[in-house]
Amino acid sequence: MTAVFLGVVTTIVVTGWIAILHPISAPSNTTLHRRTLDDRGVLYSYRRGRGMEIWLITPVTGSDGDAIRPEFLHDLVHRVGIEDFWATTPRGQVRTVVAAGWPSRCLMAGGLGPSGAMPTWQRGLGVGSASERVLPTSPIPSGFIANTIFYAILWGLGVIVFVHLRGKWRARRGYCARCNYPIGHLDACIECGAPVHARPAVVH
Ligand SMILES: [Zn+2]
Repeated sequence: MTAVFLGVVTTIVVTGWIAILHPISAPSNTTLHRRTLDDRGVLYSYRRGRGMEIWLITPVTGSDGDAIRPEFLHDLVHRVGIEDFWATTPRGQVRTVVAAGWPSRCLMAGGLGPSGAMPTWQRGLGVGSASERVLPTSPIPSGFIANTIFYAILWGLGVIVFVHLRGKWRARRGYCARCNYPIGHLDACIECGAPVHARPAVVH
């Protein structure tokens, strides 16, 4: 349970750190992927660092205000997993979607705003005077579970290695590997009963 708790905390902390580290706007050398949405609009996507993906959805000029519906964004809706957010992107507006986390994207933020300006965040907390960074607040369930398991395993392995090394250090100094009671050269700990495995060789 402790490992799962640490996994959840680490997932959130790492994602927050990734989000704070990277502004939303694309630097000039960023590769923008452009996809036309059935002559209703355009979907741009790009990455910031290893742990952040950003999508910009823009209806084409002259299209209906409710031009871009979820059915044109199947893969994005599937990945981010929040359908109700996708009802419409009004003409003249840009919908920004941010997914952050590593190794999987696990929290998302979304906002709406005029082209060329930072969005008003509807999911997520804008950070900085121009909200050019955002702390995402909506979980992406599959990614959140995957990251929690990943970090829980790392914590578990870390604790196993730590306990093993600590036991070796204690035994080398003549203390019980389990409870740190001084035991000298006895075969078992007189405090906790733990058998003594790693006793330093006695030179005669
Ligand atoms: Zn002991």
